[in-house]
Amino acid sequence: MAKYTPMMEQYLSIKAEYPDAFLFFRLGDFYELFFEDAVLAARELEITLTGREAGTEERIPMCGVPYHSVDTYFHTLLAKGYKIAICEQVEDPKTAKGVVRREVIRVLTPGTVMEGNMLSDRENNFLVAGIAEEDGFSLAACDISTGQFYGAVFQTIEQLAAEIMSYNPKEILLKQGTGSITLQERCVAMGSSNIQVITDEQRPTAGLSSQLIDGDLSASLKMASQMLLDYLKDTQKRNLDHLQPLEVYLTEQYMVLDPFTKKNLELMETLIDKSKKGSLLWYLDQTVTALGARMIRSWVDKPLLGKEEIQNRLIAVGFLKDQWMVREELRELLKSVYDIERLAGRISFGNANAKDLVNLKRSLEVIPLLKKLILKAETEAPGLLKQMAETMDGCQDLVELIEQAIVNDPPLSVKEGGLIKEGYDGYLDKLKTVSRDGKQWISALEKKEREETGIKSLKVGYNRVFGYYIEVTKANLGSLPEGKYERKQTLANAERFITPELKEQEALILEAEEKLTELEYQIFSELRQQIARFVTRLQRAAKQIATFDALASLAQVAQECGLVRPTLQDDGVLYIREGRHPVVEKVLVDQPFIANDTHLDCDTQRIVLLTGPNMAGKSTYMRQVALIVIMAQIGSFVPAESATISLTDRIFTRIGAADDLVGGQSTFMVEMKDIETMTTQASKQSLVIIDEIGRGTSTHDGMSIAQAVIEFLHDEVGCKSIVSTHYHELAVLEDMLQGLKNFHMAVQEQKDNIVFLRKLKQGSTSESYGIYCAQLAGLPEKIINRSGELLKGYKEKGPVEQSSGLVNSFVQEPIQLDLFATSSKEKEKTIDTTVKKLEKITQEVKSIDLI
Ligand code: ADP
Repeated sequence: MAKYTPMMEQYLSIKAEYPDAFLFFRLGDFYELFFEDAVLAARELEITLTGREAGTEERIPMCGVPYHSVDTYFHTLLAKGYKIAICEQVEDPKTAKGVVRREVIRVLTPGTVMEGNMLSDRENNFLVAGIAEEDGFSLAACDISTGQFYGAVFQTIEQLAAEIMSYNPKEILLKQGTGSITLQERCVAMGSSNIQVITDEQRPTAGLSSQLIDGDLSASLKMASQMLLDYLKDTQKRNLDHLQPLEVYLTEQYMVLDPFTKKNLELMETLIDKSKKGSLLWYLDQTVTALGARMIRSWVDKPLLGKEEIQNRLIAVGFLKDQWMVREELRELLKSVYDIERLAGRISFGNANAKDLVNLKRSLEVIPLLKKLILKAETEAPGLLKQMAETMDGCQDLVELIEQAIVNDPPLSVKEGGLIKEGYDGYLDKLKTVSRDGKQWISALEKKEREETGIKSLKVGYNRVFGYYIEVTKANLGSLPEGKYERKQTLANAERFITPELKEQEALILEAEEKLTELEYQIFSELRQQIARFVTRLQRAAKQIATFDALASLAQVAQECGLVRPTLQDDGVLYIREGRHPVVEKVLVDQPFIANDTHLDCDTQRIVLLTGPNMAGKSTYMRQVALIVIMAQIGSFVPAESATISLTDRIFTRIGAADDLVGGQSTFMVEMKDIETMTTQASKQSLVIIDEIGRGTSTHDGMSIAQAVIEFLHDEVGCKSIVSTHYHELAVLEDMLQGLKNFHMAVQEQKDNIVFLRKLKQGSTSESYGIYCAQLAGLPEKIINRSGELLKGYKEKGPVEQSSGLVNSFVQEPIQLDLFATSSKEKEKTIDTTVKKLEKITQEVKSIDLI
């Protein structure tokens, strides 16, 4: 067996405890990595891999980074999803006997980052623990940078997985047990990569309690919360007093939006490039603080279901929209507010510097002004704003404490002095006087020595190695009196001396300065601990500031984009007059957005069957309806002339563009799964949006499924639905289902082309203009002409007499769904073959284009 040096033995024993993390091993001014860690880190960090003697025959792989620039390396590794164990020297190397004692003082992981420069300030950084067992489905989620700590219980594993993903977690802990493999699979399928499975040995012992998770909780929620706290304890190894008590929320408080619907509707990011720009969040987020930005993100993620809560937000937004001067002043004030939540976190974590404290003070100084601004409006200010302003705690005692203690512009480092104000600590002031007097004495020394010796070029200087000195050029050495000057250093053309009195002053100054910096650090650390006790008050104030900012943001958007306040009702009616798609309208530059009405109710118009050619604006319209409902339930004004919204418990979408091919499923399979979810889970209060129902399979299959789904939604669920289709033949359903109405997106035919009017009209259309669209897309003329010929053939005689004739005979009376005439089957086959041929040609043309 290889025999390593004692230090290497120490390294190996520590590394054995952290097999899944990079061990950053402190050696003097460097953090070193060894063995496989070194090889991998050198590659990931693009640093040089070297070797080191380790007592064995062969050198071992090693790489290292200087301790003062380690943050950027940590950042890179965390961003790639790695963990880092920081191993420090925990005793003074000067006094240590043998190998210096070392310990891991903290494990950095992507989900437990505290450092501001490693976090995105407008987003939370959540660590989520999930448990899926027979006795329950629960999650606990925590952002340790802000102290937020949430928990929730679910009915099904799907709901649990969906909610885990809605946190956009940087790290997920799942408990291994029956069912949790599928939970893991579900999270992976939804795009999560940083998952850790907790094994049975690692799971917390039931009954372990913490004051953060007190209360009457289900066993599985307790377990999830405890699992999360244990992980934090194991990795952070220090005070986590800033964590807020577990806040248990009920999923019924919020509108249910599954991850695919969120994606399809582009709530947080766009489908194409996953950027925030172009999403609903981008549209609504005009916040000026990081606190507000995170708040509005959580609002968009979780639209409300409580009418009163929504009304309160709407009223506040309305007030801030109309009172533009109050809004402007409020936003101006908020601009000076730093990220109080994360400052509070760093303070109690013990890694805030003096600048952080000054920033905290400046932020808190805004509160009295903010209160005054809102309360000035007295009776006019709506309840929510007034109540927040009245109860807001400016933490005046804390402001005074920081004001008295910390200088206004402190340095970044807390270990080099210059932090504490005069008058705060008597002994510190004394040391400062000694140091200052000494320095004054020295600056007067030059003049005095010049006069005494008559050497005009004599200089008094200081350097780190030799301390203070008197410098005399070689030419003038003869003028120095004997005895008093002691030679210290010889330069090329000068000599440096010291005198007994200079030595004495130097000793005084150095001693005072050393003590001074030490004392300053000590005072600062104590102050930081003292401030940590304010954490709960700070977090409460931060939440109120965030709410002000988010409301002002909604008001600003309402003003800029011409939005109106929606009316909330309980009668099941959704009525939008002249509604617009918020984002499409905002990004359209050279043409106006065409507004459209929407009327859906629980009665004769609960299903809108929408037809119209491609590019006519169907999917924009359907998304717009969903987005308007979501905006209203967030508490935002909406893009319309007027809107009456009945609270919607859940929105389901099946929109083609976001074909997430989960685990290799076909597009059609994904569609069917979505349809399964909506048909089984939708309630009367839900809104269902299906774009191009039944596509992706043969015409007859597709149309049968489409009809059956529509009938089911109509008869069994009774929810509001908008369903678009290219199967114009389904229009006959209007005569069969009393709650279904046909609508189409109007187009105007001109000589050789068509104009998309983008106007919703009652009734159905019978033209698809598919070939026209193909022409617009630039398909070769040969294909276009040939398609035209084929289409003519189909219409006139063809294998199918008349497309409408065929399908009219195909659309079945409700209940008789499976009657396929043999002749229809044959016809279907012929159509399919032709369509397939066309698709093949198009594909080939596309690939030629690409080449
Ligand atoms: P469809 O779903 O019918 O194929 P889309 O909804 O994708 O059509 O609309 C195609 C394009 O038309 C959109 O990208 C958008 O730019 C434009 N558009 C859609 N609706 C409108 C509208 N109401 N006003 C102006 N432009 C619109």
